[in-house]
Parts: sequence; structure tokens; C-alpha cells
Amino acid sequence: MEDLQSSLKDRNLSVSTITEKGRCLLTTRDFYPGEVIISQEPYVCVPNNSTVETRCDVCFKTSSLKNCSACHVVWYCGSTCQKSDWKLHRLECEAFSRLDKDKRKFVTPSIRLMLKLYIRRKLQSEEVIPRTATGNYNLVEALVAHMSDIDEKQLVLYAQMANLVNLILRWPEINIKEIAENFSKFACNAHTICDSELRPLGTGLYPVISIINHSCLPNSVLVFEGRSAVVRAVQHIPNGSEVLISYIETAGSSMTRQKVLKEQYLFTCTCPRCVKVGQYDDIRESAILEGYRCKNEKCDGFLLRAADGKGFECQECGLVRNKEEIKKIAAEVKLLSEDKAPKLSSTGNCQEAVSMYKMIEKLQTKLCHPFSISLMQTRDKILKLLMELENWREALEYCKLTIPVYQRVYPAIHPLLGLQYYTCGKLEWFLGDTEEALKSLTKAVDVLRITHGTNTPFMKELLMKLEEARAEVSYNNKQSYDE
Ligand SMILES: [Zn+2]
Ligand SMILES: [Zn+2]
Ligand SMILES: [Zn+2]
Ligand SMILES: [Zn+2]
Repeated sequence: MEDLQSSLKDRNLSVSTITEKGRCLLTTRDFYPGEVIISQEPYVCVPNNSTVETRCDVCFKTSSLKNCSACHVVWYCGSTCQKSDWKLHRLECEAFSRLDKDKRKFVTPSIRLMLKLYIRRKLQSEEVIPRTATGNYNLVEALVAHMSDIDEKQLVLYAQMANLVNLILRWPEINIKEIAENFSKFACNAHTICDSELRPLGTGLYPVISIINHSCLPNSVLVFEGRSAVVRAVQHIPNGSEVLISYIETAGSSMTRQKVLKEQYLFTCTCPRCVKVGQYDDIRESAILEGYRCKNEKCDGFLLRAADGKGFECQECGLVRNKEEIKKIAAEVKLLSEDKAPKLSSTGNCQEAVSMYKMIEKLQTKLCHPFSISLMQTRDKILKLLMELENWREALEYCKLTIPVYQRVYPAIHPLLGLQYYTCGKLEWFLGDTEEALKSLTKAVDVLRITHGTNTPFMKELLMKLEEARAEVSYNNKQSYDE
């Protein structure tokens, strides 16, 4: 741990412990919006490969892949990636080769992440590959496992997975109980690796990043550049403050956020948003985000359960909506959105999926508050499908419908808000509305240069688009001036 402390000291950070929360990461100088606080390469990582999608094991690329000719389990984009991985994959490859061919199909990404963890640990202890201050097994040992909080069913599953890992590796010194505990550590500590547009690519363990605690109103954001995890300040963080990121989608009501955090990360959040649970403002906010709309279409009031329990009463105009009527629409929405619509999307039937989601949207506009998150999510799905269908005009309409809700549910500097402005700008650009595109792209850059920096290929492309839009707008203005 001393190694880690001194390596963090060089980055103006330190690890400390807080009684209720355990370890935390503190700043030892001021950090400003957009500044990188810390970045880390994964200790181990694995692409989320499945039967429908395959990625290179090292760089996560999807193009020109060849699988390892010895085990046929792992894929590479070329010899550079394959060679760089060989010291580690050699042991995994031997293990796979001993396994029946049909059994190799059952090696999931989580199993592989665990195999890689044990292989890296072994190679580091044998000094085949170097240990570093921020990349060694001691840091993995220090991660929380929450074993006493896990239910029986989950424990049985971890034990079965640990047995499978043991069966694949066949190392005499291996400790099955410890592997099960490590699966529990993965569940609370591993990160989903996403591309710049926040689409999931894989899973990685970043033991130093894992020290950073959660807040529903964080001062920092975690994004990935390739497979390295980068934490940037989104606010001014004074010297001596705790660095905080969000582990979850923060758009939900306090109850929803707390439920997700408890189920997935096994703790109760006490951030400034969560301590307000039960206060009037929080009740109002939850009723807007996840509650029903007023019977009067022109009223934007929020509804709370009426005193007689028979319905929901608008807090603005006093109109009451009948419980049975709400139940009926809610059941229809549930059936369509949980069963029928996902089936259509997964079969690639975009046009029919759009019609189905539009039916859901129609029902939700009758059911939910105009700023409802579920309505926003439905419109986002329609937007993505319309983009796949290259229906830019309608996609732009949907994008514009979501933006006021994004602005309401996310802080001003949030990657999802920046990305939504970017989508809007790209669509306006395609449709030839350069002036609007320039406005949207400017907003996108204002947010994303802070959350994403300016050096990645993704950001370079955005900045170039902004320049093009700027040039075209000033050219058009000059033309009209000359006339
Ligand atoms: Zn590669
Ligand atoms: Zn292999
Ligand atoms: Zn919270
Ligand atoms: Zn009303």
C-alpha cells in the first residue's frame, strides 16, 4: 500500500478511510473542470463477446478478426495485439486446449475475467511480468467483497463459477473459496468499459479507480479511452476533498437509485441528493420522474396518492385520476415494452419496432408526467431506431423532444447530455440546417471537452465538425451580406 500512496502522492491524491464508507480517494490540491484526476490501465479486462458480437481481446476492435488457432476461443485483430497478449494468453490457451470443444462454448466473459486475474497474479509472482504500484494483486485483495451481505442463491452461483474456473485451470495450489470471493468482488468493483458514446464494449478491473466512492451528484466522471479508465473533474474540487463518481444512471428518483445501489453495490447512499429522501422536494421530484400526469392535458402538475387511496390527485389543480384507469394503461405499457417491443428490436425489424415504440409512447403520454424518465427512454429508443433507418428528419424531432428532459435530469456537465447535443447537431448538419447544427455542436463541445478531454479520435472528429459548421455559417453569412 505504501507504493500506492507514494504513486498517488505524485498525482496530488491520497487514499484515506472514512468510518461509514471505508476507503476513499482524496485530493491534495485543487482540481478544475476537465482536468484528469487519475487514469488507469485495467489490471485485467475482457471484451463482452457473445454469439452475435466478437471483439479483439486486446483493443476491442471488431474488424478483421482471427481467432487463436490453438484454442479457437479468443479473437485478435492482428499479430500486434496477439503478440502483446501472448505471455498471458499462453497459460489460458493451454487450459482451453485441455477442455472439450463443446465445453469451451460455456466460457463466459466473467469466467475469462477470473482466469485472467489468476494468470496475471501467477505471472507477476513468478516475475514473468512486472508488478507496478497501481497494478498488483495486493490491490485486488484490498477490494471489498461484501460476502456477508450476499444472498444464498448468489453464493451458490459464485461457488459453481469458482468450480468451473478451477476445472479449467487445474492448478494444485488454487483456493476455490477465494475464487468465489473474487467473483463477489467483481460484482461490486469491476467496471463496464464503454466507447466514447457510452456503448458497452467489455468489462475490466481497475483496482485504484475502484477506491473512488459513489455519489448521485458526483464531482467527477469516469470515461474510457480505449481500455484505459480516465477520471476527470466536472466541478472545481478543492484541496482535501473526496473524489466522487457515479456508479449508476443518476436520472432516477431517490428510491430507484437507492434500490439499484443496494442491490448491485450493497450499500446505502448518503449523498446530498439521497439524504433528502422523504422530504417534500424529493417526493415532488419522484412524482415527476416516475409518477403520473394530470387528467387535464394542459396541466403540468404532479400527482400524489389521494387520501382515500382510490386514486391519484394533482397537486396543482386538484383533479383526481382513478387508480383502475391508471392500472389499465400501465399494464398495457408493461406488456408492450417488456415483451413485444424488445422482441421486434432484437430480430432487427426496425420499422415494426418503431411502430411498436410509438404505440408505447402514445400510452405513456397519457399515463406519465411530461418529464417522465420512462417516456424519455422510449423516445430515445425511437430515436436510435430512426437513425438506423436513416430517417434523419423524424430522428431529429425525437432528439429535440428528449433534450428538455435531459437538461432537467442531468447536471449541466454530464456525458449523456453532451452526447445528446452531439446527436442533435449531427442530424441538423445532415439535414442542411447549418446554423442550428453550429449551436448544437457548440453545446456538445462545451460539455464533452470537460467529460471526454480533447485528445481522443472521437473528440477530434467532433471538434472538426464544429470547425466545418462554423466555416460554413460564416461563408453563408458573407454570401448574403455580399448580395
Ligand atoms: Zn486488437
Ligand atoms: Zn488460444
Ligand atoms: Zn445518492
Ligand atoms: Zn392538474
